[in-house]
Amino acid sequence: MRLILVGPPGAGKGTQASHLAAHYKIPHISTGDIFRANLKNGTELGKKAQSFMDRGELVPDSVTNEMVKDRLGNNDVAGGFLLDGFPRNTNQAQVLAQILIEKKMPLDAVLELKIDNAEIIKRLSGRRTCQGCGVSSHVEFEKPKVAGVCDKCQGQLYQREDDKEEVVARRLEIYAQQTEPIISFYNSIGLLKNISALGEVAEITKRAIAALG
Ligand code: AMP
Repeated sequence: MRLILVGPPGAGKGTQASHLAAHYKIPHISTGDIFRANLKNGTELGKKAQSFMDRGELVPDSVTNEMVKDRLGNNDVAGGFLLDGFPRNTNQAQVLAQILIEKKMPLDAVLELKIDNAEIIKRLSGRRTCQGCGVSSHVEFEKPKVAGVCDKCQGQLYQREDDKEEVVARRLEIYAQQTEPIISFYNSIGLLKNISALGEVAEITKRAIAALG
């Protein structure tokens, strides 16, 4: 299974991606996670990405495309992959298409998680992310057992800079302007499936698997 997961910030892409990657036994490649790991480790790549991420802007394509090209060069993608958060604009989609042609690895599907803006704002304003393992919870809808502490690894929970209200508004704007056009493109070539991102996590995963066939 070679799959792209697309959806606005707060649709639950990261959560669903990890369930789907486990189900299909394929690596979960999240560009946001790779950037955050680099930021945490203070690498050059992290330093290049930080100011864009903090403002909710896209990291320049020159940086992002190289990083993905490099990641798709790993042997673990031979049996498939799940891309989460990439591509996010037309240029990235074109670069990805070229990489996949060269590697003779055509995409099987692009799965879109659909959700409206009011629900996104509710989800993101209360989202907390674990500094240790990156898993997220919610101060109201998915409370951790101990406030401020990750259930999975006991790491400290924090609010991502880009989950703050002003930044969320910018991320939604960028999604509408830059990412929605690629969804129409994937639809026009018959790869797009979409499902509602509302409901319980397990229910949405089931919906996704049913849509993917
Ligand atoms: P995410 O966790 O997918 O919401 O990504 C967090 C942030 O990382 C985004 O707001 C961007 O600043 C950056 N980022 C992640 N994926 C990409 C991408 N494909 N292109 C450019 N920037 C990205």
